[in-house]
Amino acid sequence: MEILFLNPVFKEAIWGGKLLKEFGYEQATDKTGECWGISAHKSGDCTISNGEFEGKTLSWVYENHRELFGNIQDNIFPLLVKIIGAEDDLSIQVHPNDEYAALHENSLGKTECWYVLDCKEDTKMVMGHHAKTKEELVKAIENDDYDHLLNKFDIKKGDFFYIPSGTIHAICKGSLIYEAQQSSDITYRVYDYHRKDKDGNERQLHVKQSIDVTTVPYKPYDLAKQVEETIENGTRKELVSSNYLTLNKYDMTGYNKVKNDKPFQLVSIIEGQGTVEGKEVKKGDHFVVCSDQKEVDFDGTMTVMICTL
Ligand code: ZN
Repeated sequence: MEILFLNPVFKEAIWGGKLLKEFGYEQATDKTGECWGISAHKSGDCTISNGEFEGKTLSWVYENHRELFGNIQDNIFPLLVKIIGAEDDLSIQVHPNDEYAALHENSLGKTECWYVLDCKEDTKMVMGHHAKTKEELVKAIENDDYDHLLNKFDIKKGDFFYIPSGTIHAICKGSLIYEAQQSSDITYRVYDYHRKDKDGNERQLHVKQSIDVTTVPYKPYDLAKQVEETIENGTRKELVSSNYLTLNKYDMTGYNKVKNDKPFQLVSIIEGQGTVEGKEVKKGDHFVVCSDQKEVDFDGTMTVMICTL
């Protein structure tokens, strides 16, 4: 029976800040942008913090004990879970699909989804664009005309967004976000506000690739089928179920037994505290429920994200 608790990997960023520290991560600095909570990606491979695999990386366990992950055939561990704290705006960016990423980057594509854990008043988000044709898109990019091009709106705590590859997007300053995504680190930056780093250099842009992969026209993803149900002590809401991932949010107010009929479950405590199979957990903890663990006992008042294939 296996539950793999993980040591997150922290990443600083030009747009990072104190939000992850304030969220409760002691290892975060004043410039941390991302906490990779559940990752077997080579750019940030989490180590296991408990049991017989203590100290091993998640990619090592995936490589050597595939039976714990339902013997799935994926060459690399397919999903990645992050907490993102943006003190400043992220670049306007877009990710390739599997086909383009395999051809040009030897990587998976990147479809992702976001749940807003917290944000300041008037926090914005960029999602999609208003160009009706590729020509309109190219012209707007050439003219730096992002005010007219981008679809920008206010967000609030609890909002959820699904972002298929090919969608231009950006997290904006003041956002604390839970993200579940394909395990890929391929980002094409379209525009970075002409920001300069401490050496006076702008970050590299990938305008040609961005134009290649951006879906035109933009069509918002249909989230109409979100299911909500009462569980033993609390509620479960299915935020999305797609070809790439399924994400459920559990708001628990006591004891709950959660079944696992998937190859694995990626679990993140995003609010509150309690126990999991008798072990104490709190906000910010991440773990993997392996395929041989058919049900998990949760107890406590907490909000729990469970991401599966
Ligand atoms: Zn992204």
